[in-house]
Amino acid sequence: MTDLTKLTAVEIAGLVASGETSAVEVTQAHLDRIGAVDDRVHAFLHVDTEGALAAARAVDERRAAGEELGPLAGVPVAVKDVLTTKGVPTTVGSKILEGWRPPYDSTIVERLRDAGTVMLGKTNMDEFAMGSSTEYSAYGPTRNPWDLERIPGGSGGGSAAALAAYEAPLSIGSDTGGSIRQPGAVTGTVGAKPTYGGTSRYGLVAFSSSLDTPGPCARTVLDAALLHQVIGGHDPRDSTSIPAPVPDVVAAARLGATGDLTGVKLGVVTEFTGEGAEPGVMAAFRDAAEALAKVGAEIVEVSCPNFKYALPAYYLIAPSECSSNLARFDGVRFGLRVGDDGNRSLEEVMSLTREAGFGPEVKRRIMLGTYALSSGYYDAYYGQAQKVRTLITRDFTSAFEQVDALISPTTPFVAFPIGSRTADPYQMYLADLFTIPTNLYGGPAISVPCGLSDGLPVGFQIMAPTMADDRMYRVAAALENAVGTLTPPAL
Ligand code: GLN
Repeated sequence: MTDLTKLTAVEIAGLVASGETSAVEVTQAHLDRIGAVDDRVHAFLHVDTEGALAAARAVDERRAAGEELGPLAGVPVAVKDVLTTKGVPTTVGSKILEGWRPPYDSTIVERLRDAGTVMLGKTNMDEFAMGSSTEYSAYGPTRNPWDLERIPGGSGGGSAAALAAYEAPLSIGSDTGGSIRQPGAVTGTVGAKPTYGGTSRYGLVAFSSSLDTPGPCARTVLDAALLHQVIGGHDPRDSTSIPAPVPDVVAAARLGATGDLTGVKLGVVTEFTGEGAEPGVMAAFRDAAEALAKVGAEIVEVSCPNFKYALPAYYLIAPSECSSNLARFDGVRFGLRVGDDGNRSLEEVMSLTREAGFGPEVKRRIMLGTYALSSGYYDAYYGQAQKVRTLITRDFTSAFEQVDALISPTTPFVAFPIGSRTADPYQMYLADLFTIPTNLYGGPAISVPCGLSDGLPVGFQIMAPTMADDRMYRVAAALENAVGTLTPPAL
């Protein structure tokens, strides 16, 4: 019998629609797999066994009643714990929200339910999505299925590891500086950051509101595109949601899979070739770029001189926004409350709660952001970073006058050993060297596996103009067609 956990989302949906298998069988197979491997991988913070089986039964009933099912009906999906799920615990990887069961669904989760997908549970992440390894989760790290002693990336390491461990065929992540793409790269899976505003932030616990972008994770480009189509599109409940239809990413992925890129011009970012990246990563990237040239793409070099300022600018803007967003965790409205013994003042209880509830990285960012926004320093730090953001946007705009899309490795290095970068925050920040410019600009970008270095997966990044998400899927699918997908070792 086929192992249902090894199938793509497209294959699963096909079997469910034709009645060859039921959504309940598919769901049970994935729950069993989680039961068998997740004590080692720790991709999940919460598994919603009953909710998942109930959702699967509902799909099977709809099919039995002759209803037309959507393209992902009956397909299990794992959701990063940054998105609210009605009645299902949502912690954001933090002690401060331990035990919180939101009274409402995020728009993404609502759309997943409407599409008949089956939510298996909530995945592990760095606390408040701050990190590149899931080592900053208050609930312990997730491990990379390629090597359990290594990190699965972050902040959405749980969502990526769940795919590579065959615990789920689809998952949802959120990308503020690279948290969908970097975990995708180091686990050999596909991760797409949609255009900012192309997916709704309603019910996404805020880290840095001008950057946060939820998006799809999958083992194939077409599966990611189908998920993107389901979750994307305008949402009146999010003031920065773009009032336009989702670009036809599914058609683009199918077109790319035919393998021909004649007429497509790709720009290798000069500033991302060499310094700071492992030689094995650069070699895999160059081989893949050559494979794209063989199927017709024209490849040129494009200079983006301001990209080198992206990391410092991001580490002012993101902490500044986080210092404001995280002020709401005050021990009064949500989750944890410490020291409320009737004798302490409100300020004391707030302070004790935040001291106990936030981990060191979150505190570091709140302090950094508070400082950068303080009067007298605002212009020198936050204001300056915003100017850099404009310059980076101009680099993208001028690049896209020369080429259709930009390409680079997704990350400078492959999955590193657990514990090897936590002592120095800057070493951790470097993981997002190549992903952060896109967030500052707001455009879409995707990471696709392109080969191995030292036996570990390397990601290939494709960056496209805002609202040209379809373009990046076309190139991504062509790349996948040319170099194939990666199969993680058996767990
Ligand atoms: N690693 C980056 C950070 O720590 C990006 C995180 C993200 O995209 N959520 O901020």
